[in-house]
Amino acid sequence: MDDLKRTMLANLPGIDTLLLKLDKEGRMKPAPRELVKSFCREAVEELRRHILAGSLTVDPAPESLAELTAVAVAQKIADLHRLRLRKVVNATGVVLHTNLGRAPLCREAVARVRLVSEGYSNLEYDLERGNRGLRYDHVHRLLCALTGAEDALVVNNNAAAVLLVLDTLARGREVVVSRGELVEIGGEFRVPDVMAKSGARLREVGTTNRTRLADYEGAIGPETALLMKVHTSNYRIVGFTEEVALGDLVRLGRRHAVSVMVDLGSGCLIDLGRYGLAKEPLVQEVVAAGADVVTFSGDKLLGGPQAGVILGRAEILARVKKNSLNRALRIDKMTLAALEGTLVHYLDPEGAVRDLRVLRSLTEAPEEVAKRARRLLRILRRAKPEGMTMVLRKDFSMAGGGSLPGEAIPTTVIAVRSLKMTPARLAEALRRLETPVIVRVADEHIIIDLRTLVEDEYALVRDALVEAGSGR
Ligand SMILES: *Cc1c(COP(=O)(O)O)cnc(C)c1O
Repeated sequence: MDDLKRTMLANLPGIDTLLLKLDKEGRMKPAPRELVKSFCREAVEELRRHILAGSLTVDPAPESLAELTAVAVAQKIADLHRLRLRKVVNATGVVLHTNLGRAPLCREAVARVRLVSEGYSNLEYDLERGNRGLRYDHVHRLLCALTGAEDALVVNNNAAAVLLVLDTLARGREVVVSRGELVEIGGEFRVPDVMAKSGARLREVGTTNRTRLADYEGAIGPETALLMKVHTSNYRIVGFTEEVALGDLVRLGRRHAVSVMVDLGSGCLIDLGRYGLAKEPLVQEVVAAGADVVTFSGDKLLGGPQAGVILGRAEILARVKKNSLNRALRIDKMTLAALEGTLVHYLDPEGAVRDLRVLRSLTEAPEEVAKRARRLLRILRRAKPEGMTMVLRKDFSMAGGGSLPGEAIPTTVIAVRSLKMTPARLAEALRRLETPVIVRVADEHIIIDLRTLVEDEYALVRDALVEAGSGR
C-alpha cells in the first residue's frame, strides 16, 4: 500500500466526529439518530473502499475527507425524503395502463376520499339507528340501482372477488369452465391458479376455440358447484369458434340447480359501441341475463379506484359476506369513498363519459384528438427544445388493462426525434424528471399520444422536452 492511501485511511473521520459536524452545520434534513449513524458508517465504509481501490483523487486532509462523507450522508437522507410514488404523465396512448395506476380518479372521487379520510366518517356506523353499520352499505344502493343486481359487495380487487366467491361457493367441489376462457391477467391472475387457491376443482370443458352447451351439460354431476364464464378480457379467439351464450348457460344451470358465475373483468356500464368501439359485455346485461353472481374490477372501464365488485342474488351474497376470508380482503374507506364518487356519475351516463377520464379518453373523436395534437405541437415548437424535430402522425391508441383486446383506436401523436440522443435515451431522460413523462418508442422516434394526455399536462410535456433536450 502506498503512503497516500495509508494517510487517507488514517484520516478517515470517526463516526462521532461526523455526527458532531453534521449537527453543527445543520444542513441535513430530519432523520432518526440511529439511521444517521448507520448512514455515517456506510459512507465511511464506501470511502474506505474507494481509497483501497485507488479510485479516488481528492485532498487527503482529514477535513476534506470529513466533508466528503458528510455530503454523502446528507444525500442519503435527502434521498429518503424524496417520495417515490409520484404523478407521471401518461403519453403512451394506453388508456388503462396497469403499470401507471390504471384509471385516473375523477374530481368527485378525489374530493370524497379527502373528505372521508381526513377526519372521521360513518364507515361502519348507522347514522339512523346510532349503532354499528356495514361498510358495504354505502355503495350497495348505487351498485344495485345501476346494474339491477339484488345485492352487492366490494373487496380489494377483482382477483380477490373471484377468490372469495369460489372459496364460498365451490371449496372442495367442481367449477365448470370452458377451455377457451382459462385466462391469465397480468401474470399473477390465472384462472386455474385462483381456482386451486380457493380449494375449488377446475373442470375444463370444450376446446380452446369451441365449447358447446352439451360440453357443460356433460360435465354436470353431484360434485358441480358452479358453471363459470370468464370474460376473455385481454385476448380474442377468432376464426372457427363457438361459445355458449350466457342466457343458455343460465337456463342449463337452472335445470340442474347449479349457480352460474361470470367473471367479467372489466366493469363496463356504458355501451361503447355507440362511440365506434368494440362492444364489451355490459354489467347490467349480464345481470339481466340471469347470472347468479358477477365480478368485475373497479379500476378498468368503470374508471374508479382499485376494487373488486361482487354482484348477485341475495342468498349467495349473504353467504359470501359471512366468509371469514372477506375480512382479509376488505376494502378501505378511501377506496369506498372513491368508488362512491365514481359510481354517482353513472346516474347521468353522458356525464360519465365526459367526467370519467378513462371513458373520455376512449371515446374522444379522432378529429378532436388531432386538433389537440396540433395545439400541443405549436406549444412544443414555440418552446424550441434543443436538437429536436417534431411531426404529427396518425397512429393507434390502446385500451389496455384487460379491456377491449385487440382494439386499435385511431389517434394522432407527436413523433419527436432528438438529433443528439437515441429515442431510448430520450425516453429515459423523460422518465428521470421530477414529473416523469412516459412515452412509447417507435423507429427512431419517441411517440407522444394525445389520447391519454389532458390539457393540464401540456405544460409538463413542454417543460420535460426542454429539460431533457438541455441535457441537465
Ligand atoms: C382484470 C381481470 C381480473 C383481475 O382483476 P384485478 O382487479 O386486476 O384484480 C380477473 N379476471 C378478469 C377476466 C379480468 O379481466
